[in-house]
Amino acid sequence: MSPQSLRLLVVSTAVGTLGSGRGGGVEITLTGLVAGLIARGHRLTVLAAEGSRLPPDCGRATLWTRPGLDQPSWQHQPRDGAVQMPPGSLLAALWECALRRQGDFDAILNLGYDWLPFWLTPHLPIPLFHLVSMGSVATVMDGVITAVSRWDGRRLAFHSAAQAADFELAGAARLVGNGFDLTGYRFRAHPDAEAPLGWAGRIAPEKGLEDAAAAAALLGRRLAVWGLCADPGYAAAVEASVPAGTIVWRGFLPTARLQAELGGCGALLNTPKWNEAFGNVVVEAMACGVPVVAYRRGGPAELVQPGVTGELVAPDDVAALATAVGPAEALDRSNCRQWVERHCSREAFAGRIEAWLLEGLSPAGPQTGPT
Ligand code: UDP
Repeated sequence: MSPQSLRLLVVSTAVGTLGSGRGGGVEITLTGLVAGLIARGHRLTVLAAEGSRLPPDCGRATLWTRPGLDQPSWQHQPRDGAVQMPPGSLLAALWECALRRQGDFDAILNLGYDWLPFWLTPHLPIPLFHLVSMGSVATVMDGVITAVSRWDGRRLAFHSAAQAADFELAGAARLVGNGFDLTGYRFRAHPDAEAPLGWAGRIAPEKGLEDAAAAAALLGRRLAVWGLCADPGYAAAVEASVPAGTIVWRGFLPTARLQAELGGCGALLNTPKWNEAFGNVVVEAMACGVPVVAYRRGGPAELVQPGVTGELVAPDDVAALATAVGPAEALDRSNCRQWVERHCSREAFAGRIEAWLLEGLSPAGPQTGPT
């Protein structure tokens, strides 16, 4: 229990409803954060797209929803693209509500990667915090994140050092990792007989599924793929690039079913083409005892301990990826679970988030006014 009980408004992503998978890793981050902070005695309200559902362990949170059209996700925009707002914007509806109700809260915590809430930060009477969910993907976003950092860097937190290093920050970055309800992931000491390799994530070019498929094909192994198909043309092209039967599409599954299937894999391949901010699926696989072979790039390179919980190989090197599978599968799977329990529990994550918010709410520190 925290010494101080906070009334917190958590504003979700303006891409997709909670439960749909369209918001990617932000959905599981939100769940861990909300359930973890409630368990520490805080009062949580979540503001999200109409149609959103909160899982049962967030049952003591209040859910407010607003209708509106999704934001185009920044990772699929040109780097020098302008900020866009569709007519009937969900983002505008969320922040109209947040601004109107701000007096009911001690702080607002934004989980969306959008220009508007970052820009609003110095102009609100209520403290507004941001857990940044992606690395650098757009110049205008880089600029507004730097501006918040210069105004009061305590308002920003990042998932990994590699992600934070993408941005020009006025001081040291606050790193909070991520947190999972590990009771929901069953440890499997052994993979299934004739275990496939696994891959999980949004099926979109920045996730590099083609490299995992090519490595599986080199090894003559099946690759089970879980995730939301964000780009059907891309999925078809990847399937056509490897022998028929290499990819086994498993669809987008809720966590309980995902972990049950994931746990049977010999190893998870994680092949991002971008500077992945964290890599939820890496932790989820390890929670089930599945070692991970990942590119030495972004968050996953901070999550995988080579020779202990998996292997790291040079980014974009498919042959090295394939070669590392055997050594990874030979590792003791209990190492994976133990590492995750030490670093990625929901309890530890909520403690890190609470410490960040309390420090940011304390009077000390720079408050130089908008620049
Ligand atoms: N996921 C899921 N069901 C699936 C496949 C993936 O719920 O069948 C979730 C997974 O639990 C993870 C998220 O999708 O939390 C993907 O997050 P990640 O951090 O790997 O990547 P992002 O989509 O945020 O770039």
